[in-house]
This record gives sequence, structure tokens and C-alpha cells, in this order.
Amino acid sequence: MAEIRAWASKGPKQKLEPFVFNPGALGVDEVEITVEYCGLCHSDLSMINNDWGLSQYPVVPGHEIVGRITLLGSNVKGLQLGQKVGIGWNAGSCMHCHECIEGNHNLCLSAQPTIVSHHGGFAERVRAHWIWVIPLPDTLDTATAGPLLCGGITVFSPLLTFGIKPTHHVGIVGIGGLGHMGIKFSKAWGCEVTAFTSTASKKNEAKALGAHHVVSTQDHDALTKIASSLDLLIVTVNVPMDWTGLLNTLRPNGRLHVVGAVLEPMAIPAINLIFGQKSVSGSPTGSPAALSTMLAFAARHQIAPQVEFFLLSQVNEALAHLQAGKARYRIVLQADFA
Ligand SMILES: [Zn+2]
Ligand SMILES: [Zn+2]
Repeated sequence: MAEIRAWASKGPKQKLEPFVFNPGALGVDEVEITVEYCGLCHSDLSMINNDWGLSQYPVVPGHEIVGRITLLGSNVKGLQLGQKVGIGWNAGSCMHCHECIEGNHNLCLSAQPTIVSHHGGFAERVRAHWIWVIPLPDTLDTATAGPLLCGGITVFSPLLTFGIKPTHHVGIVGIGGLGHMGIKFSKAWGCEVTAFTSTASKKNEAKALGAHHVVSTQDHDALTKIASSLDLLIVTVNVPMDWTGLLNTLRPNGRLHVVGAVLEPMAIPAINLIFGQKSVSGSPTGSPAALSTMLAFAARHQIAPQVEFFLLSQVNEALAHLQAGKARYRIVLQADFA
């Protein structure tokens, strides 16, 4: 099997370097795709830095992959050579546990993440189990589709999972890589949308993205003013927040849903959950069916992440840009192996 050229980190917090590996024989259920574009997600940085203690070096990051199928295993179903597809956070799941059979493959306890003990999309080619290789609608722009496959599905999934209706009012905390897509999806879903930001300068940006209202998370009076108004609050940031203040913005039966990995434990006052029957929850990306649904919805409503492009060979500059908090709002790397 032909070797694969990639960009890899050889140890925690190290710059990515060119790395060549032999992928071995293609599994019967595997698909190999030639990478055209790959989004840069904060989780790539977490894996490079071993923030979660899961990293096995060399780490080849990249899990917002868009490309074309160039090899098919003999058991692959429903995909064709040359087809335009995407791969997100997961590259495999067991296919026989209760969650897989139920269609919730993203909750499979032995799911194989694309960049954990598996080489990801900062490479010429990448492999995944066929069920995780998601066909892209023809009308979706290939260059900007990558970030939908991790960041996009992460904020879209809660709308599906919790039966959010157009009559609901959704709040999005944080206007960044995930949050800006959350605003666009909730708006297109038909909901009233309130964006929460700690950055005053992002107020107009949030409105331009489609938010009906923008509230400062630093302004306790502003939070009090919108008390008991939201049905779902999606928290995309990974820093501790005024959880009591945010819970108070929820209507009865409302839900505070975290998709940003806040490392510090969250202090949630029980009484604020009990009165009003409120919930606090979290979720990881989405199932293959949810990914397909999200891509079809994005294509129909022409929802694309707002991205900045770098060549894959400039990946270290791109990582520095992300780390400095300068990405507006998502970075996409274009594969440029000569
Ligand atoms: Zn991600
Ligand atoms: Zn499973």
C-alpha cells in the first residue's frame, strides 16, 4: 500500500512536522479518501497538547475532512469511487452495541475517534469505516463544508435531539467557531435566537450572523432582564460561566446544554433546577444519520461556516492563529501535497 504523507506532532505542544506512514492493507469495511480540505478544530489543538491525556504520538490531527473516495473495502455499502464525502470526529464504531444498533453510533463506547490512536485529515489520504464516511450534497460548497462535520454537527445535534421547534427561543453562548454556526442553524430552524458574548465588539457580528438579540454575559442586569425566556441554551465556550445567571434565563422545562469542554466542575444550584423543572446536559458531535440530516439542512438553507483559509503546509501558522484567538470564525486548511 502506498505511503501517506501527513503533518504530525511528535510530542506534546510540538510544532507539526512532515510525517510519512504506511497505512497497511485497507480493511474490508474501510474507505480511503483523498483529502482536499480539512477544518482546524480546537480539539486538534487539545490532542496536539495532550490536554485530555489521550494522545499517542505521532498525532496526525484533522477531523473536519472533505475529499473524494479513492479506495473502497470489499464490504463497503452505498458509496462510490470519486464520490465527494466528509469525515468528522469519528472514523469508526463497533456496529453491534445497543447504541450503534439504535443509530446513536456517536455514543458507542468503543467509537474510534479520527485523531485518537488513528491518523487524521492533515494528510494526503485518510481512512474510516464506511458508515462514518458521509456523502456531501452536490450544492454544498466543498471548500467551506469541513467545519460542519465537527463544529457544525455539535451545535446542530441538540436541535434534533431535544425536539426544538420553530416557536422555541434558543440562546447561544459564545460567538466563535461553534457558536457562529449555532446562531445560523437556530435562525434557519425558525427559532428566536439570542447570542451571548463577553466581547462587546462581537455584538454587531452576532446580529449579522442572524441573532435577533445579543446579550453580554458580563452584564448581570441584562441577564436578569431576559429571565425565564429561553427554551434551550447551548454553551459553546470552555471557560467557567455565571451558571446561576444563565440558568435563570431559562423558561420552565428549559435546558442548559454544554458542548464546550469546560475543564472546571460546574457549580449548579439544585434549587434552580427543581423550580421550573430545568435540565443541564451535554453531547458529543452526532450520529452518521444526524450528520447527513445536518448537511442536507445546510445545503437547503445555504448555511456555510465563515472561514479563513490556510494551506496545509502553513498548518503551524494556522495553529498559532487559532491559539491566539484570532480565527474568524473557523480555519480551513487546503491540502497542498505536491
Ligand atoms: Zn472538532
Ligand atoms: Zn457500538
